[in-house]
Order: sequence, then C-alpha cells, then structure tokens
Amino acid sequence: MADRMLQFVHLPQQTPEKREVGERRADFAEIYRRFAADDASAQASRCSQCGVPFCQVHCPLSNNIPDWLKLTAEGRLEEAYEISSATNNFPEICGRICPQDRLCEGNCVIEKGFDSVTIGAVERYITDTAFERGWVKPVRPHREREQSVGIIGAGPAGLAAAEQLRRQGYQVHVYDRYDRVGGLLIYGIPGFKLEKSVVLRRWKLLEESGVVFHLGTDIGRDLPFAELRRLHDTVLIATGVYKSREMGGPGSGLPGIVRALDYLTVSNRQGLGDDVPEFGSGEMNAAGRDVVVIGGGDTAMDCVRTAVRQGARSVKCLYRRDRANMPGSLREVKNAEEEGVEFVWLSAPEAFLGEAHVTGVRAVRMHLGLPDASGRQSVEPLPDSHVTIPADLVIKALGFDPEDLPAAYDEKALTVSRWGTVKVDHRSFMTGLPGVFAAGDIVRGASLVVWAVRDGRDAAAQMHAYMQHAAVVAAAAD
Ligand code: FAD
Ligand code: SF4
Ligand code: SF4
Repeated sequence: MADRMLQFVHLPQQTPEKREVGERRADFAEIYRRFAADDASAQASRCSQCGVPFCQVHCPLSNNIPDWLKLTAEGRLEEAYEISSATNNFPEICGRICPQDRLCEGNCVIEKGFDSVTIGAVERYITDTAFERGWVKPVRPHREREQSVGIIGAGPAGLAAAEQLRRQGYQVHVYDRYDRVGGLLIYGIPGFKLEKSVVLRRWKLLEESGVVFHLGTDIGRDLPFAELRRLHDTVLIATGVYKSREMGGPGSGLPGIVRALDYLTVSNRQGLGDDVPEFGSGEMNAAGRDVVVIGGGDTAMDCVRTAVRQGARSVKCLYRRDRANMPGSLREVKNAEEEGVEFVWLSAPEAFLGEAHVTGVRAVRMHLGLPDASGRQSVEPLPDSHVTIPADLVIKALGFDPEDLPAAYDEKALTVSRWGTVKVDHRSFMTGLPGVFAAGDIVRGASLVVWAVRDGRDAAAQMHAYMQHAAVVAAAAD
C-alpha cells in the first residue's frame, strides 16, 4: 500500500475548513470544521514516510506519526486510533490545540518547496471518529492493586497520570479545588479552540475507568497536605501555575482592570451554564465595551477573541514587542485579526486613566534594541511617543507564576526553584519528599498541554516503579 503515500507531489496541503468570520464571531463553537473522511485520508497520504521522522522527534510525546498517517491513508482508522492512543492520553485535544507550527508540522521534512503534512487535524480526526464509533473504552485493569495514589490537580498532567496509573490497577483519587475536571482545559482555554464537550467526555470516561474525583477540595485549605500523604501510598502534585503577573503604574488599581484568567474563567463558566454574577453585572463582560488586552501570549489571544464574541465595541491588543517576537502562536494572531482585533505592536502601558473606573490606557511606543544573552532583543521606550487609547475594560495577560506551595502545604521540605516551581529529580520525577512526585506546569512553569501530558505519563511510570519496589520491600519484611 506504500503507493498510497508520497502524494504531496500531486496534492496541496489542506487544513480543515474555517467557519466564516461573521458566523464564528457570534458564538463560542470551534472555528475549524472537522475533516471529511476523504480529506483526512488524502492529507495523510501526503506523508513521505521518512526514515528519520522529524515530526515525531519534535512531538513532545514522540507520537508514531508516520504509522498513523499511513493507516489513515489506507482507511484503517481503528488501527490508527490504537497507535495514536498508545502514546497520547488525549490525542483529540492535542490535535486541536498544540501549536503544531512550532512542533510536529513545523519540523515535517517533506521535500523542499512543499507544505508540511497536516498532522494535528488528522490526529484529531482519528480520535473524534474513534469516539463516535465506540472504539474509545474505559480502562479495565488486568488486576486491582490495593495501593492508592492521590493526585492534586485535574488538569492534563494529573489526568494523564490518573489514566496511566489506573491502567496499572492502582486506586486513583484526584483532588481539585474546582468543581469540574480539566484544569485550564475547562476554565482557561475558550470553546472556540476546544469545545467543552471534548473535555467533559474525557471526564466521564475516567470516572467509568474507576478514577475517583474529589472536586471542590483545595489541598492545603480543605484537606491538609500531610493528611493526603497519610491517605495514599504516593502523591502527585499537578497543580499548574495560577498567580497572575501584575503590573504597577498610576491607575493600575482602578475598577475595570481585570486579570486574564478571572475573565476567561467567568466566560467559560457562563458558557457552561453557570450563574456567574460577575458576568451579569458587566464587571467581566466585554459587551459594548472598548477593550484593551495587555500581553502577547496565548492567553492574550484567547482574551481578545473572547471579547469579540461577547460583543465588544472595539478590541485592541497591546504588546511591547512586534509580531515576529511575540510568544503566542501566529496562527492565533491571524485568527484574531480576521475576527476584527487590532494589534498595537511595540507599545507598553505606562498609566491607566480614569477616576472611578478606567477610561483609557496611556501607552509609550517601544523599539527593539540589541539581543541580550538569551538572544532575545531588548525593548526600550521611545522618548516623547505617548498615545492614549480609550478603554473601559482592560485585561492583564502578562503570564503566570506558581503559588507558594511550601507555605500552602505547610511543608518546608518541599523545595522550589527561585521561580517557585517545584523541584524534582528529572529522572524519577520525585520531589525532595519520599513518595511525593510532581508534573506539568508546576514543574516547568507555564507551558503546553502536550508537555503536561508527557510529564503526567512519565511521572506515572516512576510512581508505579516506586510503589512496586515498596510492595516488594513490604512483602520481604513480612
Ligand atoms: P492545569 O491545567 O493548570 O491544572 C491544574 C489543576 O490543579 C487545576 O484544575 C487547579 O484547579 C488544580 N489545583 C491547583 N491548586 C490546587 C490545590 N491546592 N488543591 C486542589 N487542586 C488544585 N496550551 C496549549 O498546548 N495550547 C493552547 O492553546 C493553550 N492555550 C492556553 C490558554 C490559556 C488561557 C492558558 C492559561 C493556558 C493555555 N495553554 C495552552 C497552556 C496549558 O493550558 C497548560 O500548559 C496546561 O493546562 C498545564 O497543565 P497542568 O495539568 O500542569 O495544570
Ligand atoms: Fe503534533 Fe501535538 Fe499531536 Fe504531537 S501531540 S503530533 S506535537 S499535534
Ligand atoms: Fe511524514 Fe512529514 Fe513526518 Fe516525514 S516529517 S514522516 S513527511 S509527516
């Protein structure tokens, strides 16, 4: 069947159709339609089945991309699903929201002059089809083990670890302070990138697999960390990073200036049907407002596009560097521009105007200087270059840091880096505390879903090894 492959010579690259701008501005549904079966198969057949697949090398999960592309091209979707799900707990989620241009697709080494193979959309197509056809089944371990695991955090790192450990037969308990499962997948990332039903069906599947969720339980506040350690044989900290970076300056405390994650959480909750007073009161609702979002990462892109959908009068994104130097995905910038967002590059806020409520942002123009030791160009203000931008809702999207976990858990032996991320042994994923492991953003700092899944899987493998060893030692002592 190898002749079905190598079709890149005849077939141009095609990504799933995007919904028309006017239509997508009016709702929170995903903007990309799904591939039709023929399109997925045709796009998969463009792969040249490289001997050294750089797509796979640059996928954090080392997904066996050439194999599942070949099987998709041949119409053998159930086998493609088996291979795709062997290395990734949530292929349909990564297929939707990985920055493929920087990972697998950006490193596809198809012949020069041809566009890369469309990998993410095919990955999504395989697992969405698998769900529809009933091939995705709850985990049924071969044997049940008595040992139990306590996982703090139901984000992608915690969930990937939960599934892997349940597969091994452990009694898995996941604790989360939120009332829903998914972490940033449910309350951070908006529906137009990742529809909530996609996250909810994973939650259901994990419950059917025997994972026990303790929602609305804040470890450190509702249940002491020491107590959690007493309850379980091993503990995984997968709590993400949530402390918003702040900015100072005149007027920075004015009403109408809000944090990005608060704003996105309110919007996501409202979309999920919750009664959210901050939305109803208008405090966290962009309808009819002039909105300025400050920042240039993925969170800022999600805020500007949420504001558009809420019916803002105008939406501007203020970023101190230029388009080429922004951390967010260029695909998302393009989507935002199509939806009517205006980017004000090379501009930084200096002061917030207004008395009882913010009415505008005074910004200074910046220029890019010489690269620093990290190779990143410095930014310097241009003298006498002020502009005033009217705004009655300002959203700060400047990044996130970890909370002070040793204090929250009353555990000084839990060592953290100077940035506050939890320190682990990079081979065993164990913290300085015996039997306590950590994974995801709380170890890496703000990162990507695909890396959280990878860490969750790796940490689970190490926890399994640790508990097996403990079981052998206990048996020998009997
Ligand atoms: P999280 O997803 O943050 O989950 C941590 C969980 O721990 C949460 O549910 C939290 O409630 C819980 N928790 C924290 N403290 C406690 C406690 N004391 N007790 C109990 N529970 C606790 N990545 C991409 O790959 N693509 C994207 O498009 C993308 N877009 C993003 C958009 C936004 C707005 C944001 C903020 C991030 C985005 N990311 C994206 C990054 C990605 O969401 C994270 O890297 C990923 O979710 C990290 O996973 P995690 O499991 O480590 O943590
Ligand atoms: Fe690409 Fe992400 Fe899928 Fe890996 S998990 S193949 S990086 S879309
Ligand atoms: Fe196929 Fe591109 Fe991967 Fe090569 S690098 S195996 S062409 S997807």
